[in-house]
Amino acid sequence: MTKYIFITGGVVSSLGKGIAAASLGLLLKSRGFRVVNQKFDPYLNIDPGTMNPFQHGEVFVTEDGAETDLDLGHYERFTDENLTQNSNTTAGRVFLSVLDREREGGYHGGTVQVIPNVTDEIRDRIMRPARETAPDIIITEIGGTVGDIESLPFIEAIRQTRNEVGTENCAFIHLTLMPYLKKAEELKSKPTQHSVKELQGLGIQPDIIMIRSERPIDFHIREKLALFCNVLSDAIIQNLDARSIYEVPLMMEKEGLGRIVCRVLSLPDVEPELSGWEEMVRRLYNPEKEVRIVLVGKYVELRDSYLSVIESLTHGGIANCALVNIDFVDSEELTDYEAVNARLSGCDGIIIPGGFGDRGVEGMILAVRYARENSIPYFGICLGMQIAVIEYARNVLALEGAHSTEMVQSPSHPVIDLMPDQNGLRLGGTLRLGRYACRAVPGSLIEKAYGTADISERHRHRYEFNNDYYDLFTKSALKPTGINPERNLVETVELEGHPWMVGVQFHPEFKSRPNRAHPLFRDFIAAAVIHATEAGAVK
Ligand code: GLN
Repeated sequence: MTKYIFITGGVVSSLGKGIAAASLGLLLKSRGFRVVNQKFDPYLNIDPGTMNPFQHGEVFVTEDGAETDLDLGHYERFTDENLTQNSNTTAGRVFLSVLDREREGGYHGGTVQVIPNVTDEIRDRIMRPARETAPDIIITEIGGTVGDIESLPFIEAIRQTRNEVGTENCAFIHLTLMPYLKKAEELKSKPTQHSVKELQGLGIQPDIIMIRSERPIDFHIREKLALFCNVLSDAIIQNLDARSIYEVPLMMEKEGLGRIVCRVLSLPDVEPELSGWEEMVRRLYNPEKEVRIVLVGKYVELRDSYLSVIESLTHGGIANCALVNIDFVDSEELTDYEAVNARLSGCDGIIIPGGFGDRGVEGMILAVRYARENSIPYFGICLGMQIAVIEYARNVLALEGAHSTEMVQSPSHPVIDLMPDQNGLRLGGTLRLGRYACRAVPGSLIEKAYGTADISERHRHRYEFNNDYYDLFTKSALKPTGINPERNLVETVELEGHPWMVGVQFHPEFKSRPNRAHPLFRDFIAAAVIHATEAGAVK
């Protein structure tokens, strides 16, 4: 029988519920349990696909092409399990299903209500993985903060789930914040008490209270909280700030989280196998070299917009025993070559991740030119590949006015364009999404990186390399080196005679893992390490 763990949040948002859920997934998986993580978001968008990156951060794409919340990236990176369309459900999607059913007469003339109709739909989705893959444990994170109006149906649904599956098969974990008041030199437990009271008022008694805090929580506070919140004192788990998110599961294990969850769920506790993870964290904390990577983008004010790219760069660093310092540069600041020189000189690698729309694109083109002319390792992802193609078309192939039809309506040379069957598309779910095959040209950098010519990667884009220019590029130094076999689409380009310049139409960052860096991020950082060493030798 599948067991259920629900993680709710209280006091404030941004406490790292996703990392807590992902860490717990790892701790249980490392005990030999089959675990599925999923997230329920109370907002009304159908999915985060059309949301502004400034508001919502990155959109994480699953193998099967779902556009999901960035917490799913944490789940995949920590548990090393691929998630699916079902792994992220929003209130919008729940309501859409209920309303569709109503229009189809599915409620047989009855009044459609939040309870039971909406809560039934939520419960059905919570339990879906149990029916489909029957894991030992389903960990469900409820987005938002307890007390929000929009999260009420979700809290009610998880309360009902506990009654349905029985208390021994269900655990509630509530994550809160304990602020430290400098002047009083005191940690304050009152916000947690209030938040737990709020949850209790909704019919949920948490089994475990996990508390974010910048200071260790002493025995007396734990005792007091346990008394007020009606939990055992060892079920108060402190979640201190960590140097790296990858240390969090190890800290949680020391706090006894895995053991206590097993106790609550009447599961046998076994020693977790975490040696590989510990070794990875040890490598992360003991780098032997250092590189400076410049990330050029237009969403740099909100780092979460590039979350998976940032994590993947870190993974590449771990694989190379190198500390990766990332310098974020707003492409709109790169107004001319002097500005580029001032911001980018001395770096060991340049990366341009995905993006949409024309803002800041000219600055990105200048950055690519700088990388190309100065032999600086360059990694272009999705938009970053398209920019590399445009730059080369303009400045080397002398195709004046070369551009993407995403940026200008009728460029003289539309080197990046829509496919003929893509005209008249609507926004939302109309991108090329999810897993597609790519075949690498023998001897290419990508074939070398992957160690095979058969590649499969996740996509999220609308525009493509225009094959009218295929022959011209093949004869040039910026060669297409990876092709999608079904539709003959150019998936990767590489610059011959440059230390490492690779553009990929797909998003490798979604498949990188801390203990198994994505081969392209690994090789990009390796090239940056060489660049740093050579630059050091010249100095
Ligand atoms: N805007 C580009 C496209 O739609 C690139 C998308 C991306 O970088 N994810 O093709």
